[in-house]
Amino acid sequence: MGDPSIRLFVTSPLQAGVELAASEAQSHYLANVMRRSAGDSVKLFNGRDGEWAARIIAISRKSVRFEPLELTRPQETDPDCWLCFALLKRQKTDLVVEKATELGASVIQPIITERTQADHVNLDRLRAIATEAAEQCERLMVPEIRAPLKLAALLNAWPSERQMFIADERRDGPGLRPPADALQPIALMTGPEGGWTSAELDGIGAHPLVSRCSRVSLGTRILRAETAVIAGLALLLAGSSQE
Ligand code: SAH
Repeated sequence: MGDPSIRLFVTSPLQAGVELAASEAQSHYLANVMRRSAGDSVKLFNGRDGEWAARIIAISRKSVRFEPLELTRPQETDPDCWLCFALLKRQKTDLVVEKATELGASVIQPIITERTQADHVNLDRLRAIATEAAEQCERLMVPEIRAPLKLAALLNAWPSERQMFIADERRDGPGLRPPADALQPIALMTGPEGGWTSAELDGIGAHPLVSRCSRVSLGTRILRAETAVIAGLALLLAGSSQE
């Protein structure tokens, strides 16, 4: 019964017959906005135990309890793709987080570059946007949203095995192509509206921890920073199996 398309991210373990509680916000949504009742079905996922069909077993305005009934999709290994994007103004950052979640980024890392105009994020808000996007797009996990880092700090902690693709608006590099192994650790780096400085591009390439990096083109036009994120992730991830 009920609208089976309601799909919620929870933090508790999911196991047949082991009851769990909804958060207060989810309880409000289910009881007051969606007007669900006891017995109605929902789908639940927690990023670890796959997706479950569950039943609402108790509902009030402030608290809802679920009982998981059966596994509907086993947990999959998502591609390991970080998005490192130069922080944008609020609305564009919100858009980037939503789209990167839909497209399958595993970690979303805002970075501060020389020409970045913004320096503040509300991580709770971005995590809520990512959670809602994952619920809506049927992902089985929510990407991790990290606090902003200066480019130098990111590079000084760079895991050398991770292959970096730098979206370079000078467009003289090769076109962006996904790596042959869809599960290999990769990262897309995109610059701010003002672009990368030459010193930044040279510095990334010369950094001792960045052993695998290429500057790539996203086509012949200069894209807005948020367009570059969406186009770049689509090229890197759209072909991956997600299995
Ligand atoms: N103001 C800059 C453009 C910056 S575009 C200029 O006029 O040159 C913002 C970011 O989007 C860039 O730093 C780059 O990471 C990415 N980008 C935009 N267009 C691109 C393209 N055609 N190829 C690769 N990256 C691109």
